[in-house]
Amino acid sequence: MPQKKYDKILIINSGSSSLKFMLFSMRDETMLAKGMVERIGSKANLVYTRNNESKTDQLVTAENHGKALAVVCKMLSDKERGVVQSLSEVQAIGHRVVHGGEEFKSSVLITEDVKDSIKTCSDLAPLHNPANLDGIIACETVFPGTPNVGVFDTAFHQSMPKHAYMYAIPMQYYENYGVRKYGFHGTSHKFVAHAAAAYLQKPLQELNLITCHMGNGASIAAIQKGVVLDTTMGLTPLPGLIMGTRCGDIDPALIFFLARKGHSIDEIDEALNSQSGLKAINGLNHNGDMRDTVHAAEQGKAAAINAINMFGHRAALYIGGYYTLLGGADAIIFTGGIGENSAAGRQSIISRLAAIGCNLDEQRNQACFGVEAVISSEDSKTPAIVIPTNEELMIARETYSLLVNSAL
Ligand code: ADP
Repeated sequence: MPQKKYDKILIINSGSSSLKFMLFSMRDETMLAKGMVERIGSKANLVYTRNNESKTDQLVTAENHGKALAVVCKMLSDKERGVVQSLSEVQAIGHRVVHGGEEFKSSVLITEDVKDSIKTCSDLAPLHNPANLDGIIACETVFPGTPNVGVFDTAFHQSMPKHAYMYAIPMQYYENYGVRKYGFHGTSHKFVAHAAAAYLQKPLQELNLITCHMGNGASIAAIQKGVVLDTTMGLTPLPGLIMGTRCGDIDPALIFFLARKGHSIDEIDEALNSQSGLKAINGLNHNGDMRDTVHAAEQGKAAAINAINMFGHRAALYIGGYYTLLGGADAIIFTGGIGENSAAGRQSIISRLAAIGCNLDEQRNQACFGVEAVISSEDSKTPAIVIPTNEELMIARETYSLLVNSAL
C-alpha cells in the first residue's frame, strides 16, 4: 500500500527551452495533470491538461526555468483549473536526467555532490544535462525542503558487461574521456521489461527479452533476466537503428571522408543527427515522420518503400543478433510512437524474423494501436508483444520507491 507521505509526486523533464511536467497520485498511479512550458526565454507558452480533459494553451511570461516552474505551480494550485489545494501536497519531485555516466547505476536523491556529478557528465551530454540541472535547481528554489530524485536515461544500461560496452579503440579515450557505450531510453526499456513480465505472468529474473523502443529516437536492448546485456545506442544516441532524423550505424570513416571534402565538424554533426534517418531517405522533402513515410509508401513512392525496408532490415539485424547473444528470447517487445502504433513499421521488422520463430499475425498487427497486445501468430516460438511505454510513471515509481526505502 503506497505510503500517504509520498502520494503526490511531480515529474520534471527539463530541456534547454522547455519544461515538461506530470503530477501523479501514487495511491493508484493516476496522472492528475500534465503539460509543458515551451519557448522559455522568449514567447513562452503553457500547455496544460488536467486529468484527461482537453488541453489548453496560453502565452505566459517565463524568462528562465525558475519562472517557468512558477507558472506551472500557479496552474497546478489554481482554484478553478488546478489539482492541488496547496503546493505543500507535492511531497517529492522526480527528474529525468539524460546522462549519468558510469557514476549513476540507479536513481539517486539529489544532493550537492550529485549535482556536481551531473555537471561533470555534461561533457557527455552537453545539450541535455545542463538543462536537466536547471530544472533541478528551479525545483530546489520553488519547493524548499522537498526531496528531488534524479532518474537517469543511462542507468538501466549500466549493467552491461565490459565486453559489450567497450569500443575497440585506444584505451586512453576511455580512461581520459569516458568514451564507451552508455545507451539511452533506459527508463523506457526498464518500464516495458517490467510490464512484459507482468503481462507474461513471470518474474523478470526468469525472462530474456528484446525490447524495441521506437519513436523519433529509437533503440533496442537485450535484457537477460532483468539485466541489460547490450543496447544499440552508444556514447551518444546516434548509432544503431535508422531513426526519424538520425542515421544510426554508418561507417565511421565517412566522417573523415566528408571532413576532407571540406565539410566542418558542426555541419557533419548536424547532417548525421538532424538531417539523416527517414528524413533523408523517404523522398518526402525533409519529413522524418513514420506515419507520413507509410502513407507515401502506400501510394507507391519508391523512396518511401525503400526507407521502410531499410528501417526494418536494420532493426531485424539487431534483434537477430541479440536473440543469439541471449540464447533465445521469451518475447520481443515493441514500444514508442512507432512500436505502439505503426502496423507497417512493425511489419517491416517482424517479416524478417521468421528464422528466430517470430511470425506476424496480420490481423492482430493491423488492429493494435497503443494497447498491450500480442501481434505474432499463435504458432510463434518467440512472441512479439506491443507494450505502451510510460517513462514518466517509471520516474514516479523510482522516486517513490527510493524515498520510501530510504525512509526519508
Ligand atoms: P519521440 O521519440 O519524439 O517521443 P514518439 O515516441 O512520439 O517520438 O514517436 C514518433 C513516431 O511515431 C513518428 O515517426 C510517428 O510517425 C510515429 N507514430 C505516432 N503515432 C503513429 C500512428 N498512429 N501510426 C503510425 N505511426 C505513428
